[in-house]
Amino acid sequence: FLANGSTIYSQPQPQPQIVHSTTRSNTMPSWRGYLPIKFESTTLDQYQMTPHFSQKVFLGGIPSELTEAELLLVLRKFGKCNIKWPKNNGINHNMPGFCHVVYRESRSVAELLKHCTRQQRSTIDYFLHIHILPTTTGLSIRTTRFKPIQVVPWNVKDNVYVMQQDNMSNNETSYKDWSRTIFVSPLHGKMTAFSLSTIMSNVFGAVLMAQINTDKYGYPTGTGTVLFCDSHSYMRAVAAGAIDIKCDCFHKLLDIDPFLRENEPCAFCPLIADLFCRNFHCLRSYCKQCWINRHGSKPL
Ligand SMILES: [Zn+2]
Ligand SMILES: [Zn+2]
Repeated sequence: FLANGSTIYSQPQPQPQIVHSTTRSNTMPSWRGYLPIKFESTTLDQYQMTPHFSQKVFLGGIPSELTEAELLLVLRKFGKCNIKWPKNNGINHNMPGFCHVVYRESRSVAELLKHCTRQQRSTIDYFLHIHILPTTTGLSIRTTRFKPIQVVPWNVKDNVYVMQQDNMSNNETSYKDWSRTIFVSPLHGKMTAFSLSTIMSNVFGAVLMAQINTDKYGYPTGTGTVLFCDSHSYMRAVAAGAIDIKCDCFHKLLDIDPFLRENEPCAFCPLIADLFCRNFHCLRSYCKQCWINRHGSKPL
């Protein structure tokens, strides 16, 4: 055992925190193609289907000359709502150009979308055309104009997708096998549980279920989990550590981490783990002491 190992334990113990190994494989797996979309959404406008919209909607391309009061006046035609500005808004006095609107009822979102123009690509893009009033002060601009605001709704049915239903018993607990679950981030806003599971199964192997993590409105928070059918696919994904996704909608690098529960125990003793070895032949959680016992004192 290492002589200088004792210095680690004389220091005050930090709060248990999962620290991931930065050792990732040299060859970054990649996926190229059209963003996989469930068949229904390509053939139907979402608002025509039974609406399962999150009350929270993304608005982009907001004209800087529009005030919050004017924007609310338009949005409240479709129901009671509030605007959530990006967090650092206090620093910047200008309108940030994008925000989320949270309606009290999800049917208001369907109502809002009915008043939008639609652009069908692999997904549907919605635009609300806002009437900008002519300027009455200063310059003599008298023209009235319509400006498009991008409206991006979220269908809560896209939060979970079970891929391999046939192979499964109805046992609920089989969907909670953390030993075959990965954590992915940051997800692009257009990525559904269906597209996530399709891409992951194409690259790493059969997927049982994918889930998009959400806030209290059922709206994505930018992370997700994927449960693989077998541990070999799981190990391939964790050993890769990342995946490069380039599709018609976006190009994004996703980090892949093993899903670790809070207070995950060390694989070799009852202590709480704070390290995870990403080596393909290891792939286990360790407390600091067991890590040093098995890997030496080298930094990660
Ligand atoms: Zn241990
Ligand atoms: Zn190891």
